[in-house]
Amino acid sequence: MPTFWTRTLIPTLRQVPAEAEVPSHQLMLRAGYIRKLAAGVYDYLPLGWRSLNKAMAIVRQEMNAAGANEVMLPVLQPIELWERTGRRRDYGENLFIVQDRHGRHQALGPTHEEVITELVSAYIESYRDLPLNLYQIQTKFRDEFRPRFGVLRSREFQMKDAYSFHLSLKGDGGLDIEYQNMYATYCRIFEACGLPYEVVQAESGEMGGSGSHQFTVLTPTGEDTIFKSDKGNYAANLEKCEVGPRPHNFEGKATGELEEISTPNCPGIEDVCHFFKNKLGSKLKTRSILKSLVYVATRSSDRSDERTAKDTYYLLAIVRGDHDVNEEKLRACASELLGETAHIRLAPEDLAQADGWALGFVGPHAFNGREDTYLVVDPDAAQVSFWVTGANEVNHHVKHFTWKREVPQITKHDRIKVADIRDAIEGDPSPKNDGGVLNASRGIEVGQVFKLGTKYSNTLDAAVLDNQNQRKPIIMGCYGIGINRILAAAIECKGGHDEQGIIWPAALAPYEVLVTPIKFDGQIQQVAEQLAAQIERATPNQNYGPRFNVLIDDRPERPGVKFADGDLIGIPLRITIGEKGLKEGRVELKTRNGETSEPVPVDQAADRCVELLRNL
Ligand code: ATP
Ligand code: MG
Repeated sequence: MPTFWTRTLIPTLRQVPAEAEVPSHQLMLRAGYIRKLAAGVYDYLPLGWRSLNKAMAIVRQEMNAAGANEVMLPVLQPIELWERTGRRRDYGENLFIVQDRHGRHQALGPTHEEVITELVSAYIESYRDLPLNLYQIQTKFRDEFRPRFGVLRSREFQMKDAYSFHLSLKGDGGLDIEYQNMYATYCRIFEACGLPYEVVQAESGEMGGSGSHQFTVLTPTGEDTIFKSDKGNYAANLEKCEVGPRPHNFEGKATGELEEISTPNCPGIEDVCHFFKNKLGSKLKTRSILKSLVYVATRSSDRSDERTAKDTYYLLAIVRGDHDVNEEKLRACASELLGETAHIRLAPEDLAQADGWALGFVGPHAFNGREDTYLVVDPDAAQVSFWVTGANEVNHHVKHFTWKREVPQITKHDRIKVADIRDAIEGDPSPKNDGGVLNASRGIEVGQVFKLGTKYSNTLDAAVLDNQNQRKPIIMGCYGIGINRILAAAIECKGGHDEQGIIWPAALAPYEVLVTPIKFDGQIQQVAEQLAAQIERATPNQNYGPRFNVLIDDRPERPGVKFADGDLIGIPLRITIGEKGLKEGRVELKTRNGETSEPVPVDQAADRCVELLRNL
């Protein structure tokens, strides 16, 4: 049965809703796909839900074909599980926690590593039961700091999350093979969705473990920055992207005597530059400032949040004023220095002040004489140059800072390290060290695959007996896809929309065909219904479900309104049926992407639609 416009709910809007900044958000609202109920929370209307279901069907089909098994895990998760893995703390404020009538706390699952590991640990005992890949398509909850861009970053969204379990990393049944399998499956999924995507190396972040790739749809409105070497042999996201080797140098003559300057109320880099310009009459570039950030680092084996814990250290990170500290790189560095996986966070103000840090006015020489501090310097900051930096005294800076003079132990201390700890920027050398240069572009993360290792099996005691009867922690991988983001990314990307509205690939369109009768009665109505039935009986030759779906615009509206709404909702193929054409036995076929617009004899129209849809 085709759907009749008057029998469904498609509340199209003429105005662009004020709060919507990016095209996908604007158009999904305007075309009646979604409605905002609260910040980061959306109703999916019939069109939106149909598209979402098509994306889910593609994901399900490919995951099943890849040998994964679908399950459905609870949204409500006992908080104790999150405490056992340390993630109640590490996940932070993004974790929604609800309290039940008995006063017990539950997390609303933002992801399901804990729950699935608990499940597997209950049943899997022998290496013979492995490998295993379980997945679900489930609503996830994240209390995002800034929900925005519509369904691109919402607080409640659909995710396909898969988890694989292995005895070994390498070899038959090992994680490496399943990781490759999932990687290839993701490529098939995004191809089937008609999405132009790139795969880049990614940071595994709070997930722990090693090895991760991110699947990204390039668009200028994306929140993610990715870098590619112009040699074509390296691509990574901002969190992960290494910067190629940069020689550092602490030797060489000072530019002058260390001089203290009073810089009242200038804690920031820009403040200092303005102060130099306005008050001292000299131009100071941000790149001549050493930025010093104070972090607290904790060993992961130490679960306490208390600063009194003996394993808590300060990490003083130094980068050039025009650069940004990359916290993932810094965390990796902290792990090396502490000899164990470390967590880091910016030092809380009260704590740092109590411990003598002049926050906002810290300089690298604060390291001198402190037993509780590690100093990490980015190579671009580890140079002999004219440097301005904090004087370690509130409202004061120094100029002519010279490493060798101000930090005499700079080259010979085991708590000092020079390392790449900053975000890459456009034009940086490629880490391949082959003369390649990094170029930045923006994109939307639609999926990510991770090699998790044993982080969850260790903490939740998921182990199997190997063929020597030895207990081994299960090695895990995890694989996520944001279903809602697939839709938004399809609209955001090149060719996904124009001034008039959405342009769906047929794979994601709520209906493949829109029939627009100029007036819905008499012979026109008859032909409209007959064509719709013929198209729905035809066999689709692609991924998007068992049959084609047709929407008939039976509204008593003017043709102009119908055409505008048709363009807005973005159905890939439109059949227009008018009195004049019918007199000549013809209807009009038009693809939404503007490539085809042709009159077709009525009796050939259905076949021609099926043919055109092959390429849409
Ligand atoms: P981001 O870095 O964008 O916050 P993430 O890396 O935290 O995302 P994952 O934990 O890897 O996300 O989740 C898997 C997938 O879920 C992501 O690749 C993304 O497509 C989707 N996703 C994550 N957060 C959101 C959100 N707030 N709204 C919609 N989709 C999301
Ligand atoms: Mg991710």
